[in-house]
Amino acid sequence: MVLERGEVANSWRRERWDSLRLLTPNWQSRLPGYRYEGPDPDGFMTMAEVIAFVAGFAAASGAPVRTQTTVTSVVRAGEGYHVTTDRGDFECRCLVLASGACNVASVPGVRQAVPASVECFTALEYRNPAQLPDGGVLVVGASATGVQLADEIRRSGRPVTLSVGEHVRLPRTYRGKDVLWWMEASGIWNQRYDEIDDLTRARKLPSPQLVGTPERATLDLNSLSDAGVQIVGRLAAVRDGRALFSGGLRNQFALADLKMDRLLDAFDEWARSHRRDADVGPTERFEATRPPASSRLDLPLATGEIRSIIWATGFRPDYSWLHVPVVDPKGYLRHDGGVVDAPGLYAIGLPVLRRRKSTFIHGAEDDARDLIEHLAGYLANSP
Ligand SMILES: Cc1cc2nc3c(=O)[nH]c(=O)nc-3n(C[C@H](O)[C@H](O)[C@H](O)COP(=O)(O)OP(=O)(O)OC[C@H]3O[C@@H](n4cnc5c(N)ncnc54)[C@H](O)[C@@H]3O)c2cc1C
Repeated sequence: MVLERGEVANSWRRERWDSLRLLTPNWQSRLPGYRYEGPDPDGFMTMAEVIAFVAGFAAASGAPVRTQTTVTSVVRAGEGYHVTTDRGDFECRCLVLASGACNVASVPGVRQAVPASVECFTALEYRNPAQLPDGGVLVVGASATGVQLADEIRRSGRPVTLSVGEHVRLPRTYRGKDVLWWMEASGIWNQRYDEIDDLTRARKLPSPQLVGTPERATLDLNSLSDAGVQIVGRLAAVRDGRALFSGGLRNQFALADLKMDRLLDAFDEWARSHRRDADVGPTERFEATRPPASSRLDLPLATGEIRSIIWATGFRPDYSWLHVPVVDPKGYLRHDGGVVDAPGLYAIGLPVLRRRKSTFIHGAEDDARDLIEHLAGYLANSP
């Protein structure tokens, strides 16, 4: 039985901004035994298309989904679990936590010190620029969400300041192919969780600066600067009505550029060693991220220059309903590749769950197969 508090594809229906398109190309929209079959494999789905895709999978797979059913509590009971919902209780031997990795916005504590005159929105609340008051906007966070929202809000004519911390820079296309083609073909996205040196860090890596547009444009800090977005460092504090930013942008940029170049080197090496050089374009290297001539270290928040703040500072799961001692003090699940630290309990859809690609829609393909194998073995061997 699959329990869903809203409708099928609820997060795509309720928790995304209007203009969002997937940053993964259509050919990568795959679920077990089901894939995008339309005319534009290199395009990027709109939210309406994603909803139709996931709903299509639910119908094609015949999954026994009970919608409008919110799980309010899970406790261990005998050899299994007791699940309480707003539409009745259930007992089960095995339980798969597929409640998502992005249920709540992670907002830094400095939000408390933001003057009341500045309107705050998380990425889960933001829908479109018309929602914002006129005037300057501070976007905090420069991963996939932050760069996309900074770009959209700047296009609406508002002055935008983007606060940049650690980030992952990627070109949209490399040597004529989508960068995610390279991630998949080179095997990097398939790398298993137990082969990754620093798994804790890999699970906390920010999403790459990427956008899915019909033009397949690269969206990076250089293109945002060119569009007039003011780039500042990491938001370190809000004090006396002023936002204070770290210096060291130059180092942040150098690090992100270095990591991108290393990844491109790995792609080149893969193409060479797999004799694929003839199938792709010539090697490329991209302009280094340009540090702003003078980056501001503080910004008054109470004088009207900034009228709203978008917190694009990441998301985290919500397990407030899970009363099984498997959640660490920071709110993250203790699991080994999705096998949770309690008998018969599993998780799917979390960052680098079993592979680097686990956090993406198509990551469920292999993860689901592995976990079902484990789950079936557990059921077969338990009394
Ligand atoms: C802004 C954004 C952009 C993204 N872009 C891409 C992209 O371009 N490509 C890509 O592959 N991936 C993308 N992702 C990641 C994508 O969301 C995940 O790959 C995918 O949604 C994981 O599916 P899921 O079913 O595990 O989680 P979710 O889609 O989060 O689904 C979890 C479901 O559980 C339900 N639920 C939660 N709690 C309860 C409860 N207590 N009781 C009942 N139901 C509950 C929710 O309503 C929800 O429907 C993006 C994520 C975000 C946040």
